[in-house]
Amino acid sequence: MKFKVVSRGDKRSNEIEATMKQYLTDFNLEYDREEPDLVISVGGDGTFLEAFHRYIHRLDKTAFIGVHTGHLGFYADWTPDEVEKLIIEIAKTPFQIVEYPLLEVIIRSTTGGSEDRFLALNEAMIKTADGSVVFDVEIKGEHFETFRGDGLCISTPSGSTAYNKALGGGIIHPSIEAIQLTEMASINNRVFRTIGSPLILPKHHTCLLKPTVDRSFLIAIDHFTETYTNVKSIQFRVAEERIRFARFRPFPFWDRVRDSFVGNQKV
Ligand code: NAD
Repeated sequence: MKFKVVSRGDKRSNEIEATMKQYLTDFNLEYDREEPDLVISVGGDGTFLEAFHRYIHRLDKTAFIGVHTGHLGFYADWTPDEVEKLIIEIAKTPFQIVEYPLLEVIIRSTTGGSEDRFLALNEAMIKTADGSVVFDVEIKGEHFETFRGDGLCISTPSGSTAYNKALGGGIIHPSIEAIQLTEMASINNRVFRTIGSPLILPKHHTCLLKPTVDRSFLIAIDHFTETYTNVKSIQFRVAEERIRFARFRPFPFWDRVRDSFVGNQKV
């Protein structure tokens, strides 16, 4: 089996990267930065997102796993103390795979009919550098509302515990193939009216944003933000592709939610 380790680049993460590389190659696993079967991210959730986007072109062939060198991460859920155990588990391949849904984003331009397609592991956010965004929101091809406000966040189930949660969105179990739309400070008055609640769309239900005034937006896909001009529409739906996690021990989603946000308060 071929593997690659992606480190956050700090001293601790680099040390763990070196240890894993050494031991795994001693176990006759092959280090391959181009076509790895397994990508091990060492750092935090940000490092994991980077690793995911680096190997996004081969999601059907690559599985991911995360070690955290800071606080417990949602994707980076192995501790540095568990690295030896993890190395032995990896060496004993084949491993179990758990798949989570992803978000597909298609940005269409008014110029030349071009379009850009992206996949997000956590979310996409549509904002503007100054003022409010205004767009018509269509769901399944029907006008739903005209949104005016700071922006919209469209998240995956595994991203529902990230920015979406800070916006008051619900937490969705990643076994549910869905995307969630959460509002960022919508303006509600006699002219503009939005639903106000987060919306959860099942697979095959498409959400389309059509700008009505300004066509320039800041669009964040996970940790990357870029400015897009001449935007004709932005389309969201559950992607056909999925992320594959290598699972070596059970760590149920709700346990991760509890450990990250509630702690163990039982007395
Ligand atoms: P980062 O890597 O510093 O991450 C910010 C925090 O978000 C970290 O604590 C990280 O552990 C956590 N996080 C990331 N993905 C998560 C997930 N799926 N579930 C629960 N927590 C998660 O910041 P960055 O690299 O700029 O952005 C990466 C991600 O961080 C973004 O996709 C966004 O969702 C998240 N984020 C969240 C907030 C917030 O909750 N207010 C603010 C900024 C960024």
